[in-house]
Amino acid sequence: MHDKTIAEISAGLQGRKFSSVEVTRAFLARISQFNEELNCFITVTEGEAIADARAADERIAHGTAGPLTGIPIGHKDIFCTRSIKTSCGSKMLDNFYSPYDATVVSRLQDSGMVMLGKLNMDEFAMGSSNETSYYGPVRNPWDLTAVPGGSSGGSAAAVAARLVPVSTGTDTGGSIRQPASFCGITGIKPTYGRVSRYGMIAFASSLDQGGPLSRTAEDAAMLLQAMAGFDPRDSTSVDHPVPDYRASLDDGVEGLTIGVPSEFFDQDLDSEIAALLETTIAEYQRQGANVKEVSLPNVGFSVPVYYVVAPAECSSNLSRFDGVRFGHRCEDPDDLLDLYTRSRGEGFGAEVKRRILMGTYALSAGYYDAYYLRAQKVRRLISQDFHNAFEQVDVLVAPTAPSVAFGIGEKTSDPVEMYLSDIFTIAVNLAGIPALSMPVGFVDGKPVGMQLIGNFFSEGRLLNVAHRYQGVTDWHLRCPNGFE
Ligand code: GLN
Repeated sequence: MHDKTIAEISAGLQGRKFSSVEVTRAFLARISQFNEELNCFITVTEGEAIADARAADERIAHGTAGPLTGIPIGHKDIFCTRSIKTSCGSKMLDNFYSPYDATVVSRLQDSGMVMLGKLNMDEFAMGSSNETSYYGPVRNPWDLTAVPGGSSGGSAAAVAARLVPVSTGTDTGGSIRQPASFCGITGIKPTYGRVSRYGMIAFASSLDQGGPLSRTAEDAAMLLQAMAGFDPRDSTSVDHPVPDYRASLDDGVEGLTIGVPSEFFDQDLDSEIAALLETTIAEYQRQGANVKEVSLPNVGFSVPVYYVVAPAECSSNLSRFDGVRFGHRCEDPDDLLDLYTRSRGEGFGAEVKRRILMGTYALSAGYYDAYYLRAQKVRRLISQDFHNAFEQVDVLVAPTAPSVAFGIGEKTSDPVEMYLSDIFTIAVNLAGIPALSMPVGFVDGKPVGMQLIGNFFSEGRLLNVAHRYQGVTDWHLRCPNGFE
């Protein structure tokens, strides 16, 4: 059961081959078997899951089920869930029970999906390795001494190890794609505004976007179908029709022009990763696609621009955690200032504090023009580079990460080294466009991902292009040793 995709589970449920209660119990059993070792889940909601599975079975029996009804899922612990702890990976919110559900959660709930629990993540989604979590690191099922990537590390590792068939994640600078790459699965960051951010705890509001993590592009298409769409409760949600993502999965790639940005494929790219990407591009050529070299001249500024813009927005967003309205409060404060400083000092971890300090500095009088405003101008140039590229090509390919999964503890003492993990993913968030990561092979026994980047609202095209590759390869179906 646990090796099935959601397309297969959906068909089995509709065909009455098994019930949602059986599927749900099978995955709950996987969680009790492996979660201690992997640390994917912060909260497991067994009782609620069984109740939801029973309700799903009734919907199936009454003929009112949709394609996702009865299928288990795990949510990144950044999505608010009513009456179930939403920690955002932080001590600050270790005691936080949201009074409402995030739109993503309620949409998937309404579609009949069965939530199994909340998944581990870097604190407030700040990190690339899941090591900043208050709940400890997640282990990569492909190598238990390696990180799963981050910040959606629990979401990616849980899918790779078959503890859940699919999960949700968020991507501010790469946090869906980089963990998908490290764990050998598929993940898509949609166009900014495609998926509602309502109830998704904010890190950097102009960059954050929720999306699915799954083994196959087909599963990602099914999940995104239910997640996407206009939400009047998110002022940046875009009122743009949601196409039938599954219907276009098999479209041919003949005549498609794939752009290869020279800046991403320079001599610094790891030669074994480069070779896997070249083999993948050759497969698309075999299927009739054209390949064209393009240039994104400003993309090299992405990491410095991001590390001004994202901390600036986070310093503002995280000011709401003050020990008064909700979240951690220190014991016996002397006065109001002591309450603020000790509550925040105790509640936030080192990386979050570093970001708040950097962001506050960049926004302060005298530095705003030099840092924040300048970063916004370069951000526009980066967007323009993509815009120019999409006048010549249909999709771009790029590595997802500069390396395979690195060791737990290997980069924790050097924040800049950690920040460079997202060197290939961050530009996409700055430009607001969609990108998908899919597995294309292994180096040293660890998975390698490749990105497909498209213009605004081209999610259907990206899923289709990934699906065409997955139709002739099986990297996405490989299962880590010990988790069969
Ligand atoms: N690793 C990047 C950061 O630490 C991106 C995180 C994300 O996408 N949430 O900010």
